[in-house]
Amino acid sequence: MSDCIFCKIVAGEIPCKKVYEDEEFFAFHDINPIARVHFMIVPKHHIASLLECDSGYDEEMLGRLLLLAPKLAKEHGLQGGFKTAINTGKDGGQVVFHLHVHVYGGGKLSHLD
Ligand code: 5GP
Ligand code: ZN
Repeated sequence: MSDCIFCKIVAGEIPCKKVYEDEEFFAFHDINPIARVHFMIVPKHHIASLLECDSGYDEEMLGRLLLLAPKLAKEHGLQGGFKTAINTGKDGGQVVFHLHVHVYGGGKLSHLD
């Protein structure tokens, strides 16, 4: 997706503070953090949102994506826990239409933050 900001970050065309990379996923700090630690995990392959995920094709990818959250959170000092958010679609508050999981924490967060 040539006009996708997260595809450009994955490709190294837009700078970011990288957290993690493997063959399938890329993680980087949010430019506008809402907690002391706030990063996002994205699949390298462009997929717009959970609404576009396929129950057969994407099932295992989504499992691996979610399992990265506790691993990377712990590596960033969030041993005591963290929040995750996946905003989906315009009505779900999604702004960047490349599937991503927000992982954030550090300091006290309310149940809705
Ligand atoms: P969402 O689509 O889930 O609402 O959130 C998109 C997130 O991407 C926002 O939290 C925003 O701060 C972050 N974001 C938008 N543009 C950039 C960027 O160029 N670099 C980084 N690191 N984060 C970005
Ligand atoms: Zn993309």
